[in-house]
Amino acid sequence: MQALTNRAKSVDRKPMTFLESIYLWNIFKGMLITFRHIFKKQPTIHYPEQKRPFSPVFRGLHVLNRDEEGRERCTACGLCAVACPAEAITMEAAERVPGEENLYREEKYAARYEINMLRCIFCGLCEEACPKDAIYLSETFAPANFTRTGFIYGKTDLLIPNPKTEAADLAKAKGEL
Ligand code: SF4
Ligand code: SF4
Repeated sequence: MQALTNRAKSVDRKPMTFLESIYLWNIFKGMLITFRHIFKKQPTIHYPEQKRPFSPVFRGLHVLNRDEEGRERCTACGLCAVACPAEAITMEAAERVPGEENLYREEKYAARYEINMLRCIFCGLCEEACPKDAIYLSETFAPANFTRTGFIYGKTDLLIPNPKTEAADLAKAKGEL
């Protein structure tokens, strides 16, 4: 029969020798390979106790930024949603009312801001498009989840802790604690 490739190997059907029939030699060969690996540098790490450093260009989970006074930077201009090739970003804009100046930096803000992490390809175009430095991709990755809805991140999931009122949480989020 004509072979499709020249990679075929014929199977050895010779009767086993005595040494082969007691399998000890093959077990010994296997143990030798295992033993040799004991002295080699481990390619694996003990995650999550140990973590590999990320590449400087790693793009992870999104963060909605605040200014130094703790006000939300996002003005719901929609540029990130337009730039997103995966159509993963949804938002609803709202007008700031008097008395909310300490919450939102501009007159308009995102009342609803969602990113569907199942659609996101972590390209970083939303970060590049943002004129307000309001969104950036951090060095954290989206944790695993059991439901699809768990991957739709709302504003409360994305907003960075307030530097004025949640200083400890902010330091933890930045990995300083
Ligand atoms: S990283 Fe890319 S795919 Fe993900 S939300 Fe931003 S623009 Fe869309
Ligand atoms: S994150 Fe930036 S680009 Fe997106 S809506 Fe807010 S201000 Fe506009």
